Amino acid sequence: MATPPRVIVVGAGFSGLVLAAQLLARTDARVTLVERSGAFGRGLAYGTGGEAYLLNVRSNRMSAFADEPDHFVRWLAENAPEDAEPQGFARRSVYGAYLSDVLRQAVAKAPGRLLRRAGEVIALTDAGERVSARLNDGAELFGDVAVVAIGNFAPNSPAETAGLAGSSRYIDNPWLAGALDPIRRSDDLILLGSGLTSADVLLDLDLRGWRGHATMLSRRGLIPHAHDERQDPVSGPPPAPAPLSQRLKAFRAEARRTPWSRLMDELRPHGQTLWLGLDDVERRRFLRHLRPWWDIHRHRLAPEAATRLDRIRARGRLTTQAARVLSAGRQGDQVLVKIRPRGETAAETLSAQWVVNCTGPQTDLSRVEDPLITALLASGAARLDALNLGLDVEGDMRLRDADGRSQPRLFALGPVTRGAFWEIVAVPDIRLQARALADALGTRGNLQDREDDRCSTPISSNTPARSERPMGDTSPCAGASPFA
Ligand SMILES: Cc1cc2nc3c(=O)[nH]c(=O)nc-3n(C[C@H](O)[C@H](O)[C@H](O)COP(=O)(O)OP(=O)(O)OC[C@H]3O[C@@H](n4cnc5c(N)ncnc54)[C@H](O)[C@@H]3O)c2cc1C
Repeated sequence: MATPPRVIVVGAGFSGLVLAAQLLARTDARVTLVERSGAFGRGLAYGTGGEAYLLNVRSNRMSAFADEPDHFVRWLAENAPEDAEPQGFARRSVYGAYLSDVLRQAVAKAPGRLLRRAGEVIALTDAGERVSARLNDGAELFGDVAVVAIGNFAPNSPAETAGLAGSSRYIDNPWLAGALDPIRRSDDLILLGSGLTSADVLLDLDLRGWRGHATMLSRRGLIPHAHDERQDPVSGPPPAPAPLSQRLKAFRAEARRTPWSRLMDELRPHGQTLWLGLDDVERRRFLRHLRPWWDIHRHRLAPEAATRLDRIRARGRLTTQAARVLSAGRQGDQVLVKIRPRGETAAETLSAQWVVNCTGPQTDLSRVEDPLITALLASGAARLDALNLGLDVEGDMRLRDADGRSQPRLFALGPVTRGAFWEIVAVPDIRLQARALADALGTRGNLQDREDDRCSTPISSNTPARSERPMGDTSPCAGASPFA
């Protein structure tokens, strides 16, 4: 009988935690879950405790388990009845508590098979028969495989804010605990970015009694739309293969007859297929031209959050401006931000008491300063995907090394695989990926089979370019999603 595999999971945000729970429930694996913050199951998304922070996905889609879609809603009914509306948007702090419970229950059913380890993994090495994970406290852990589930990265400061570096009036990461505390009731703010992070910051401050004025700056001045009040379940047919430009034209034409929100919801389950159908040129084009529009239509605010934001705007306390930031600096008690409004040639200068960097998680991994990513790239154990959106992975989540060969023992999970799958940042997608990976890692025998079968050929050499592949091609070696 095969010995149970030992799996090291790096990161205990949603991705790592649900993978661990699935490994305990569906396999006989022994799991070591390593988390640098020491808080298991919160991650960047559910770790900030502000009561103003709501989920941006309805509760009936936030179950940790795709095959038990009402798991979260049932948990809410028992544990947080005030948030228990299935079509509602629960508080993110409550969701964090749910995830902790998911892990607790999984451990109770599989006693002795999970080791929680607080610490930061700074290197992962495939040592032939096993992998080793080196921690920042000097410890070394060993397993048969390791999974990198290190999720979302803190925002980088825009280069134009260099003049504010080190200034006590510049908040470069609003997600850090207590980051917004020094802002006083009547202070004025300049928010860099007008997306979901800006909305979070404003709503949090508003709930604490802040009554100043905020200017949200972004290149196009776009702000996220709100979800409809209620949503009937919709699912559209799988999209037929078509170039991006044709697809956009057809979408715009259809949006004259059907509400765009419904069309987006119909597209939602096919996001990965659409991405897999684009080649790198089209993906670049999408990122350069369409992404800002995609983001505000796809990642929507809870209606309650949108209403509160509208109220702040209606009271004259919020201005959104499409502009490019040219530079920023401090003058006495004020921060000054020089901008060029969109469509204008002349620059102007805004002043406020605070500048808050609300540009959101850093999604260009070539700009991320992360010890583990740096070590993986430096050792050649991993490489970034062609667009620097994440770690380059096979369809079965194995990392590709510097030469594009599939790693037998190193895997990645969650938003860090965005380059391969794109729609892999939200719970409804990650939970499927986590289950598929748990099943694949299930037994050491299975792992061995998959090693024998593995695609050792770099995708760039003799696998067809993504755009040449049929839309339904889901073979792991073709780089398509195996977990939809
Ligand atoms: C502010 C915010 C709100 C969101 N809201 C929603 C929502 O409402 N609904 C939804 O579906 N999705 C939401 N998302 C998307 C989110 O990406 C996913 O829901 C999910 O939380 C991603 O989980 P993760 O574990 O991959 O990443 P993360 O949550 O970032 O967790 C990664 C974990 O890895 C740890 N870690 C990192 N490096 C190391 C290391 N070297 N060693 C050990 N530990 C390490 C980190 O401390 C962290 O705990 C939100 C995202 C953000 C940023």
